[in-house]
Amino acid sequence: MAESDLSIINLTKTYDRLTAVDRVSFTVPQGSFFSILGPSGCGKTTLLRMLAGFISPDSGDICIGGTSVLNLPPNRRPINMVFQHLALFPNMTVAENVAYGLRRRGLDKAEIAQRVQKMLARVSLPDAGPKQIDQLSGGQKQRIAIARCLVLEPALLLLDEPLGALDLKLREHMKIELKQLQAEIGTTFVYITHDQSEALVMSDHVAVMNRGRLEQIGTPQELYYKPKSAFVAGFVGVSNRLNCRIVSHNNAELILETQQGLNLHSSAIKIDKTYTGSAVAYVRPEAILIARDHAAVSSFSNQIEAKIGSILFDGANSSAILNLPQGESLMVALPQDGRMSMLQVGETVHIGWHPEATLCFPENTV
Ligand code: ATP
Repeated sequence: MAESDLSIINLTKTYDRLTAVDRVSFTVPQGSFFSILGPSGCGKTTLLRMLAGFISPDSGDICIGGTSVLNLPPNRRPINMVFQHLALFPNMTVAENVAYGLRRRGLDKAEIAQRVQKMLARVSLPDAGPKQIDQLSGGQKQRIAIARCLVLEPALLLLDEPLGALDLKLREHMKIELKQLQAEIGTTFVYITHDQSEALVMSDHVAVMNRGRLEQIGTPQELYYKPKSAFVAGFVGVSNRLNCRIVSHNNAELILETQQGLNLHSSAIKIDKTYTGSAVAYVRPEAILIARDHAAVSSFSNQIEAKIGSILFDGANSSAILNLPQGESLMVALPQDGRMSMLQVGETVHIGWHPEATLCFPENTV
């Protein structure tokens, strides 16, 4: 274990009869960008507040570099937190905001000035020191809130949905900035969000939470391509979801029938052979090939003739909603080269995908 690895061990917190965080364990390697991702109410904030020391767990432990920090009050933990509503002091200048924690620690004036200036340069705002907070843009305020924490050189920075209050364009921009800043500074970031795109873009590892429990921890690629549960398959990234019954099951392949009678082949099976209940299948829009002629899809074991129901034009991220003859709809990503950009609503097309792109889980695990 490195000097500042964070370990969460069997952490549990119950409110009345609701278990908000249920025996959660994971380790965050020093210097990494780690996200906790989950829908509203899954227990992210409760977990983060326990890390910061604002609330106490019922059981379990929190260790940094192998030493428990549970008995330390928030201000003695080597942890700092950036809140969604940044809590900058409006009556102080930018430099005074960044200097605040250092002044409380009693550092001498010259050293404070030097460290503040260095930190402002690091967040690419070297000349912002004399400005008032309300002279900054949303993104600049964000950087100052982070600078104010990082100047204290914490082992760990906790970020509680810090981009939630920003408009979409700025959020997209800040995602990249935050990732670059973390890589440059090397402080461990623990970031909580319900936005799977934020988690995928920025993180080295992501822990997916659902109803107080950890569903899966992995790299963004592992969560996206190898989800271990139906919840992760449905929550991380965009996927077509189809409710099915199992027609046949051998070791390598499963044949499914959707509620509307469409047959699907799946080789990405997370279902025990003895299971006889309903199943749910997920197929990513980009795993489906779309073509005007049948020959292009004839080698796929899943192949369907369908009609274009609507076109969702979004440049290189365009997709179409296809109506299948059986009555279901599928979202299909359109080729980025614009080849299919002239598709018309109502046009007949052919789609196909490989059995390994049909991820299949028992329905009772959703
Ligand atoms: P959000 O993204 O909406 O902030 P979250 O994932 O951060 O949600 P938490 O705020 O940790 O979720 O809440 C987890 C569960 O615990 C929720 O059901 C919530 O209603 C409940 N809860 C949180 N704080 C308290 C409290 N002080 N007293 C009682 N129940 C609480």
